[in-house]
Amino acid sequence: MLNIVIFGAPGSGKGTQSARIVEKYGLNHISTGDVLRAEIKNGTELGKTAKSYIDNGQLIPDALMIDILASVFDSFKDSKGVIFDGFPRTIAQAEALKTMLAERGQEVSIMLDLEVPEDELMTRLIKRGQESGRADDNEETIKKRLVVYHSQTAPLIDWYKNDGKYCHINGLGTMEGIFADICSAIDKL
Ligand code: AMP
Repeated sequence: MLNIVIFGAPGSGKGTQSARIVEKYGLNHISTGDVLRAEIKNGTELGKTAKSYIDNGQLIPDALMIDILASVFDSFKDSKGVIFDGFPRTIAQAEALKTMLAERGQEVSIMLDLEVPEDELMTRLIKRGQESGRADDNEETIKKRLVVYHSQTAPLIDWYKNDGKYCHINGLGTMEGIFADICSAIDKL
């Protein structure tokens, strides 16, 4: 199986590129942000808990996220592989993912780090907020999410380097150009 972690700050293009990867390689897609937004929309208990964190630009507690991830992963049957979009976001989540995959005889094949400069992230997210109405894409919450990214999520770059799975992708450029770089990294596997 091809298990890909797509990584990057909010607004780096993870969702957009994931959709293309899914289409080309026939993978299953887990976007933890999409899972949480669906729970909020459906008014579930989990959704209510998640909303308070999301609206505040904070991360949902690891234990909760890890359970959600395992149950979505196990719902895929005869999968060719999975793209993990928005997970892991902490070292504890990366360790849990490694353990969960190992228990199923699998591993992360590659971690793709979409790097985009901070001013560009801000521009993209504000635009996305205006177009999609996503509640956490407002300037105040975006700033908090970027602080959380730097303090809790960016340390995963070194974690995946140590694990031998890290691959840097320049996230600035055309959607097609970035996708071509991603495909050449995947095709080398
Ligand atoms: P995203 O759509 O990936 O940008 O996620 C939107 C929000 O959902 C984040 O700002 C977090 O509050 C929450 N979230 C998504 N994925 C995770 C995760 N792996 N761990 C903790 N919180 C998450």
